[in-house]
Amino acid sequence: MNTQPQTTLLGLDLEELTRIAEEAGEPAYRGRQLFEALYRGRVSSADEISTIPKSFRHRMGELGLAVGLLGIDRKFLSRDGTVRYLVGLEDSETVETVWMPEGDGGEEGDGSDAGERGWRRATICVSSQVGCAVNCQFCLTARLGVRRNLTAGEIVGQVIAVLNDQNVSPPLERVNLVFMGMGEPLLNYENFVKAVRILVSGVGIPESRMTVSTAGIVPRIYDLGGEAIRPKLAISLTAANDELRSRLMPLNRKWNLAKLMLAAREFPLRNREKLTFEYVLLGGTNDSREHARELAELVRGMRAKVNLIALNPGPGLEFGTPDEPAVLAFQQLLLASGIPAFVRRPRGRDIYAACGQLKRTLEAAT
Ligand code: SF4
Repeated sequence: MNTQPQTTLLGLDLEELTRIAEEAGEPAYRGRQLFEALYRGRVSSADEISTIPKSFRHRMGELGLAVGLLGIDRKFLSRDGTVRYLVGLEDSETVETVWMPEGDGGEEGDGSDAGERGWRRATICVSSQVGCAVNCQFCLTARLGVRRNLTAGEIVGQVIAVLNDQNVSPPLERVNLVFMGMGEPLLNYENFVKAVRILVSGVGIPESRMTVSTAGIVPRIYDLGGEAIRPKLAISLTAANDELRSRLMPLNRKWNLAKLMLAAREFPLRNREKLTFEYVLLGGTNDSREHARELAELVRGMRAKVNLIALNPGPGLEFGTPDEPAVLAFQQLLLASGIPAFVRRPRGRDIYAACGQLKRTLEAAT
């Protein structure tokens, strides 16, 4: 009987897998074979790894080396093709991962490349923590508090679980990733960055098709700018003055707009790369012309665009959905100031998959 504690392979990088192979008395190149099988082949057990000898596969079992693929506990299908997955973790927690065919506007997030039908332009919205500690007042995930960080394997594992379920294979088929699910990715920095590297080099999704959204963890924005491999950056603003932003996003008291915008201006953009600013429009709170003018002033002169997201109503939220004319007027004012501004289509509202709605209780969602 196997008495070894289990070691989960998913989430280990090439170096770590090579070390494991060597410690098991195998040649170093077995590490590469494991890496390819886990991330490109997306195997569910060692038995499926036909590139390695049977004897090593057997020994992996004895050594307690398990792939650690994540299971899908529940799946909710929207009329618009969006699928919300409840992905099960080993400790019985769940996280939510959302599949959006045609891509929520693709990685541009603005509808500019969402013309084609079908999954070739799908976007997966990935969670980084169970719950979230940031406490944005307009977000349902915030109600949970943070339960724990996800491991790199759990971040990569969500993507693999969805790709397997949808039977999609990057890089041939175009998949975008947005790290905008549950949690604040930059508060789980090491695991998040490690997962990104594996998703690029292992799973085969180019970093240019990934976007990470932060509520404004300023020191980690600087760190991210220094990474050799990193997604594009989106910053959730939602207010363009400190008084209102501190009310809506309490972390603004720690890193105010001056600090945040300095980090944004100093963020080293690559060729043709733009920053994204997200602005959740809350009816009667931050959606007036004056607010739009303030926002235009704040981002003027930057290589950036603004994504406007009309609030998705939720139980217990004190804010309302803005009127359609107010949303369009807000957008027009930004455009007139020379700032690219897009209104994001809400996806999967009927299954509570839209922004800020993740992690409703199962009872509420069914
Ligand atoms: S909006 Fe994002 S950062 Fe803010 S509480 Fe929700 S999950 Fe956390």
